Amino acid sequence: MKFQQMYQDENPVLSVEIFPPRTKKGVTLLFNELKHVKRHHPAFISVTYGAGGTTRDRTLELVQQVKERTAVETVPHLTCVGASKADLATYLEAAINRGAENIVALRGDPSQGEIEFQPAVDGFSHANELVAFIRQRTDLGIAVAGYPEGHQECKDWNKDIEHLKRKVDAGAHLVLTQLFYNNADYFRFREAATKVGIKVPIVPGILPIVKFSQVQRITTLCGATIPKELTEKLIVHPDNSQAQREEGLAYAMEQCRELLDNDVPGLHIFSLNNGHITSRLVDALSAYFNHNVT
Ligand SMILES: Cc1cc2nc3c(=O)[nH]c(=O)nc-3n(C[C@H](O)[C@H](O)[C@H](O)COP(=O)(O)OP(=O)(O)OC[C@H]3O[C@@H](n4cnc5c(N)ncnc54)[C@H](O)[C@@H]3O)c2cc1C
Repeated sequence: MKFQQMYQDENPVLSVEIFPPRTKKGVTLLFNELKHVKRHHPAFISVTYGAGGTTRDRTLELVQQVKERTAVETVPHLTCVGASKADLATYLEAAINRGAENIVALRGDPSQGEIEFQPAVDGFSHANELVAFIRQRTDLGIAVAGYPEGHQECKDWNKDIEHLKRKVDAGAHLVLTQLFYNNADYFRFREAATKVGIKVPIVPGILPIVKFSQVQRITTLCGATIPKELTEKLIVHPDNSQAQREEGLAYAMEQCRELLDNDVPGLHIFSLNNGHITSRLVDALSAYFNHNVT
């Protein structure tokens, strides 16, 4: 099913993001974790694309395996890093051959050692160009990234929203946001996006904090903020302890309840391949999702 159909209903849509493990053992562990996720009937599972295209083949292999073994719609991510138009076209064709009906279209981060993003020879500089390219060649459903706190390269928050509009105008059907911990950031972002005429669903991206040091690293890289009150609650516990996990999960549950009480089109959970934590979070939100947990 395409994104366009998934979000037609009033009911919030659940989606879950995973990354391709490096080893066979990692893949086995992931499928055990996905059993917990599958209980909640997510509308789709998306599979990230490693920085610099490092997981190109693993992303597509995993997309096919997850789709076959879970019967859940599975969506590959794609970035422009190091890829010419011909490379991108090859990837799109391979994705479609492996059963993809949708794609998450991204520019990607600057390669290691570079400060500014450098487009590949005959490649793209921004995600809006990739979206237009995909729309010209395929009828895939397309999701793009949005940044409630602004993208770290764009110093003007309003300009960043204009750039998001360009991606939607180029043909994106859905916005998945970067992780955030302060719902006010999302509500302000949604309002500004609506004001400039963005009409596609803007789905909040949620990362439950299981291990504080890991999420600190991620937020430093992507420019998201962990509120001071949350940091204070987490650092009183040893890193990666059960107590810290429970605190992080309790925060995520409250954060998601407030979002779901305020008309979000769904939740996109960055699972970091931790299916049972995702499942505990969604269990606590079952009243909002219109299906039986199996
Ligand atoms: C839900 C989600 C999933 C992600 N998955 C992955 C993944 O699988 N693999 C991975 O490597 N990364 C992933 N990322 C990270 C993403 O690649 C980075 O955030 C990257 O730095 C920007 O990608 P983008 O598609 O948002 O780029 P763009 O939309 O191109 O934006 C990049 C910057 O350029 C500016 N800009 C955009 N368009 C224009 C324009 N036309 N003219 C001038 N300036 C412009 C923007 O304001 C922004 O500052 C993901 C992010 C999110 C939110």
